[in-house]
Amino acid sequence: MDARVVIVGTGQGGFQLAASLREGGHVGPITLVGDEPGLPYQRPPLSKAFLKGSVAAEGLLLRPEAFYERLQLRLMSPVRATSIDRASKRLHLSNGQSLSYDHLVLATGARVRWSDLPGASLKGLFGLRTLADARALREGIETARRIAVVGAGFIGLELAAVARALGREIEVIEAAERPLQRALSAPMANHLSDWHRAQGARLHCGAVLTGFEGINGHVQAVRLNNGTHLAADLVVVAIGVAPNDQLARDAGLAIDNGIAVDEQLLTSDTAISALGDGVSFPWRGDRVRIESVQNAVDQARHIAARLCGGANAPYDKLPWFWSEQGTCRLQIAGLSRPGDEARIDGDPDSGRFSVQRWRDGRLVAVESLNDPGTHMRARKTLSETALVPA
Ligand SMILES: Cc1cc2nc3c(=O)[nH]c(=O)nc-3n(C[C@H](O)[C@H](O)[C@H](O)COP(=O)(O)OP(=O)(O)OC[C@H]3O[C@@H](n4cnc5c(N)ncnc54)[C@H](O)[C@@H]3O)c2cc1C
Repeated sequence: MDARVVIVGTGQGGFQLAASLREGGHVGPITLVGDEPGLPYQRPPLSKAFLKGSVAAEGLLLRPEAFYERLQLRLMSPVRATSIDRASKRLHLSNGQSLSYDHLVLATGARVRWSDLPGASLKGLFGLRTLADARALREGIETARRIAVVGAGFIGLELAAVARALGREIEVIEAAERPLQRALSAPMANHLSDWHRAQGARLHCGAVLTGFEGINGHVQAVRLNNGTHLAADLVVVAIGVAPNDQLARDAGLAIDNGIAVDEQLLTSDTAISALGDGVSFPWRGDRVRIESVQNAVDQARHIAARLCGGANAPYDKLPWFWSEQGTCRLQIAGLSRPGDEARIDGDPDSGRFSVQRWRDGRLVAVESLNDPGTHMRARKTLSETALVPA
């Protein structure tokens, strides 16, 4: 309860851990080290309300400054953690200082995967992970006419919906045969594709990007493997993220699709925990890495409870997720795999329905569109039992 806890990363998970530690009665010093400037903020609105202009940066803050003072949370930002000396339990920082810890938590998240194709350094190409990225993108969209979004994942489709609503021409390029192929059932993905097409976005599925073309150093088109050139004065690279695991790697911690933790969210060093987007963990027989607010928050609460003297049960929270694309509010409970059976529940034509995902005769996930009641029931059912028999 009086240990010195140092948290690397002031994102969703790092913030939650600090808050939950104090809530749980931790009285020792808590220091948060983050390489982004300013106070911890929420990322989900960056591709939704913030991009649209309906929420300002202050509206993204997880808590005001006074909260950190009141809870005596020391916030060091923008400062980067550069190395961990595990033998002496010291964390070295980019400002030349170092911090001693009794327990260290890595909440370092993930970063945008960037393209290595020809033309990837042209001006007019954007990624979206941070508030700084979102500000730059919002400014770019103001003057852009034709936008190409590379990657039809959740973030790519969310920002495509916003940019289309703002009247921009939208081309979405996806290498797989349909958007969100790994994350969603075919009926749900096809429904969302139809919605985007009905708004006027052009979806190019099964199309592989081969490069970016420019004039005077600024992008003006993207090139596809079928020979097509699509004019674009702004391109968003939304091909996924890579875990920020370099700090852990350099410290010799186990890595397996991100920082590897056990069922207590401990790394291969018992003085170091890790959580969130940058971490893979055992979950119901699989090792998974999940990029969602729920995951970062629940893992932070689990670690806080353990450090406050409780929580010896393995981490077993049900993953759930949401995405907003125009009028489509998608919610997912549980984890599916591409081969899982899809059973439609409700009428897709009504714009409100769910898809159950079944594996070996067991319900593993439910995808709901504008159907929050079904989503909440699915969360309850799937949480109560690891896998629900048919
Ligand atoms: C545009 C966008 C939209 C999203 N929409 C949704 C949504 O609708 N629903 C949903 O559930 N999730 C959504 N997410 C995902 C969600 O935001 C993440 O899952 C969540 O932020 C993960 O929290 P985290 O603490 O693991 O990582 P992060 O929030 O990424 O925080 C990690 C922090 O650590 C910092 N850091 C890394 N290395 C160091 C270092 N060495 N020293 C100091 N600091 C370091 C990083 O810069 C970052 O600030 C969205 C994400 C984005 C980018």
